[in-house]
Amino acid sequence: MENIIIKTGKNPGNISTIMAGTHGNEICGIQAFENIIPNLEIEHGTVFFILGNPKAIAENVRYTEYNLNRAFKDISEYSKAELKNYELQRAQEIKKYLDKSSALLDIHSAKKKTEPFIFCEEKSISTAQELSSKFLKIVLGVNAVEPGGTDGYMANMGKIGICVECGQHNDKSAITLAEQSIHNFLKNRGHIQKSNNENRADKPIINLEYSYYTKTNSFILERNFSDFEHLEKGTLVGKDSGKSIYTPFSGYIVFARNCNKKNLEGFLLGKDYIKHD
Ligand SMILES: [Zn+2]
Repeated sequence: MENIIIKTGKNPGNISTIMAGTHGNEICGIQAFENIIPNLEIEHGTVFFILGNPKAIAENVRYTEYNLNRAFKDISEYSKAELKNYELQRAQEIKKYLDKSSALLDIHSAKKKTEPFIFCEEKSISTAQELSSKFLKIVLGVNAVEPGGTDGYMANMGKIGICVECGQHNDKSAITLAEQSIHNFLKNRGHIQKSNNENRADKPIINLEYSYYTKTNSFILERNFSDFEHLEKGTLVGKDSGKSIYTPFSGYIVFARNCNKKNLEGFLLGKDYIKHD
């Protein structure tokens, strides 16, 4: 498959981007591309289908030198050495397409078993609610606590940016969910015919408000935490070279993991989202 496939309809319409393989070992989106794109006819507008990290896909690794999903900050925020990385150069290439698009769907999966959910910012909530009833939650605020993601890049431009977490890497249901997300995104954006969408389901929304960055090269979790497990304030999450790290407020933990490097994302913490007008 080409790294970038452009499909244009006969009729005018929106310009959108769909990405898969932003993390090279998250194959559900890549599989979904292979299943859908060959027979897909776009009726309105243009869709860019982008394989995010071809080098990492070929090696079946998350990334080769730099996490591509943290590579979308303004280039002024990276050092000269960082900008030589394959992923940072790839991000500049992909930005050209994102700059032309008014919405992005980026497809991910997880190493451990996890319930499917969606990352986005406020402006994208209504589109996100349409993608599938299989996504159990919408998580806001990742762009504030973990800048540099593809969806955050779109949100910073006032555009729609959605990152779907479809479940475990090699689970067949993750592929089905990736396909369903692509179809419903294309319908929502007017690229293909809208039929009644029975997949719509309003999901609870969580706002991420805290990210723990490791201070040393040994952050060990106290136990396994499932994503979205609710923890009271002051719960012991793990030890950073012996120093106990507690939750700063009561909330939902996401992406807790052992880390063997300093300045990695040890865990995220969110609260129920309250809409402000
Ligand atoms: Zn990912």
